[in-house]
Amino acid sequence: MVGARPNLIKAAPVVRALRSSGERPLLVHTGQHYERELSEVFFEQLGLPEPDVNLGVGSASHGRQTAALMVGLEGFFVEARPRSVVVYGDVNSTLAAALVAAKLHIPLAHVEAGLRSFDRSMPEEINRVVTDVISDRHFTTSPEAAEHLVQEGIAVEGIHFVGNTMIDTLVRFRERLDVDEARHRYGLEGDYAVCTLHRPANVDDRDSAAALLKALGLVSGEIPIVFPVHPRGRPSLESLGLLDLSGVLVTPPLGYLEFMALMSDARLVLTDSGGIQEETTVLGVPCLTLRDNTERPITLTMGTNRLVGRDPDFIYSTALEVLSDPPRGRIPPLWDGHAGDRVAEILHS
Ligand code: UDP
Repeated sequence: MVGARPNLIKAAPVVRALRSSGERPLLVHTGQHYERELSEVFFEQLGLPEPDVNLGVGSASHGRQTAALMVGLEGFFVEARPRSVVVYGDVNSTLAAALVAAKLHIPLAHVEAGLRSFDRSMPEEINRVVTDVISDRHFTTSPEAAEHLVQEGIAVEGIHFVGNTMIDTLVRFRERLDVDEARHRYGLEGDYAVCTLHRPANVDDRDSAAALLKALGLVSGEIPIVFPVHPRGRPSLESLGLLDLSGVLVTPPLGYLEFMALMSDARLVLTDSGGIQEETTVLGVPCLTLRDNTERPITLTMGTNRLVGRDPDFIYSTALEVLSDPPRGRIPPLWDGHAGDRVAEILHS
């Protein structure tokens, strides 16, 4: 079951591994992300099969969207009677599919279980906690996830440390990334940075958004920034002056291969994305996470990530620091390109 951009990147290796072992998993797309640049492009580039069904749910408030997702998924699950349901990550589609599967007594597996920011003001944290508590199998990306699950009363037998399926996708495509083409397209000759922002606490809260734009203004005085803007934050960021920042090149969201090519040669990444904290760690690119917490602490302890919050001066001074002395990270255990194979093998057993 997939619904949003990061789900597609995490699901592709599992779908591939299941298919190569002779299974034909049904692929449900809820349509939570429906824009071509957040959805179709990823199916094409990642070689995901056409979804067996697209529920076309689209955007709405959390309550309305989750309700619509549940109605659509319930109809499909009742008709298709799947042997099990696999959900990915922490978006509303993940939560809705988990609730519906659990109530229909369909065995439920969660890929990327046990991550915790311990910040319940984040909608993703609610989705993670609820999905985990009703899942039967928990596939984890890093060792501390199992500790969180056990502390929350989850049976240890159902927890499987398999590695990171999002990184499987990166490992698969890394050799094929066309950095020259990406540089050429955006007229980038020397060093550059990349930025993404889409968390509600950063783009919907006007004070936070204004502080982050101030930070981008300061950093872009040192190094040009390419900023592919997620549609959910665009109106708010533009109304606060994003387009007036002369050192910031604003683009639409990029396809996976273009984005990875650009990020792989960047000197610095500024982001509030979950997945990008992990990808920069594997690419060895310094990452400043524009948040107060992260559910992916292994990227701080082993990787190239730094948690910098929203204070413009602190972000600027940390950017200068990592530009002059880039952190050297290591790749976390089992982030080796084979997590999807492990998930498929365990699902078979
Ligand atoms: N991504 C992309 N194009 C972009 C921005 C991001 O392909 O313009 C990829 C990114 O590399 C990562 C995924 O989308 O693999 C992360 O998605 P997002 O930040 O939307 O979600 P999160 O990880 O925060 O849940």
